[in-house]
Amino acid sequence: MAERTLRGARLGGQSFEDERGIEFAARQQVGYLCKQGHDFEVTMSVEADIPAKWECPRCGAEALSTAGILPEEKVEKPARTHWDMLLERRSEKELEDILKERLELLRGGEIGPAHLHRANKKKRVS
Ligand SMILES: [Zn+2]
Repeated sequence: MAERTLRGARLGGQSFEDERGIEFAARQQVGYLCKQGHDFEVTMSVEADIPAKWECPRCGAEALSTAGILPEEKVEKPARTHWDMLLERRSEKELEDILKERLELLRGGEIGPAHLHRANKKKRVS
């Protein structure tokens, strides 16, 4: 029966005496090429999902897989506009009511730019 226990290496550099029963995961070399033309290989398990991109070890740029693995299309979240955010808080009906209310106030000179305020509205004692 194969021994499955990994023994620790003793000080003194004694080699691992027995590797029977220890299975190493199969490896593969995956090639990448960066925009600067640096090519390199990364060792990966054959079971690994090969990333489409890897950071170039020489210049840090993004390198693309030479195995023809394409980057996954990112599911792009549509940008939320102010309008979207507004609709999350109030329905269009509510907004319409608010608009109507504000327009009435505006027309009545209650709100809005000071120079549009009606002169006959609540005069302040000056
Ligand atoms: Zn590079």
